[in-house]
Amino acid sequence: MLYVLAASLGLVIGSFLNVCIYRLPRDQSIAWPASRCTTCGRPLSWYENVPVLSYLVLRGRCRTCGEGISAMYPIVEAVTSALFVLLAWHFGPTPLLFVRIVFACAMVVLFVIDLQHQILPNEITLPGIVVGLACSVFLEPGWRDALIGAVAGGGSLWLLAEAYRRLRHKDGLGFGDVKMLAMIGAFLGWKLMLLTLVFASFTGSFVAIALMLARRADWQSKLPLGTFLALAAVPASVIGEAIVNWYLGFY
Ligand SMILES: [Zn+2]
Repeated sequence: MLYVLAASLGLVIGSFLNVCIYRLPRDQSIAWPASRCTTCGRPLSWYENVPVLSYLVLRGRCRTCGEGISAMYPIVEAVTSALFVLLAWHFGPTPLLFVRIVFACAMVVLFVIDLQHQILPNEITLPGIVVGLACSVFLEPGWRDALIGAVAGGGSLWLLAEAYRRLRHKDGLGFGDVKMLAMIGAFLGWKLMLLTLVFASFTGSFVAIALMLARRADWQSKLPLGTFLALAAVPASVIGEAIVNWYLGFY
């Protein structure tokens, strides 16, 4: 019953995350107006707005202008729904489940926006730092771990960005990445923040090498670090604790 509820709620929230993903980088309001076709601007009726199903029934095209609808919409809805079920299964009906769901939603939005626009909107990262710290006063990882996580996460990337800027005289890392890692530290604490950074660096390097081998990128190309941080932070928020304990078990 909990899983059915989580899956349906995930689809509906995923649909709302799509609105955020489309409108935040364009500086549009996320509350108004109702969803429209992004090509012809016609407002969508309720049956064109059903998560995943509408995309399948309409075969990925607008009924009026026939323009293709990005497959990213149903994918975001399906992934959000799957994440809700996964988190509900792992955390059960607890206050921490609610916090980790909010965190996962923010990661989904940042993942797609950084991939598409190479930005990480302050509207997500700054309130994210505050909410993460506030929740950590009452729940895992505790305020001390969260505060260290936020300062160490943001601080280390900020130092790296400054060093790179002075040495190479150009920007290699954005301040969006700095704020995003601070947010991850605030929600997950410093241990899982470090784990996220390690995961993200590994997958980022792996993808960079693969792209260079396929000649789709070179040493000058920029990869969206935020996308990799988001990709790493969600599994870290679920199985990170187990990995850290297993690792510390060696000592
Ligand atoms: Zn249209």
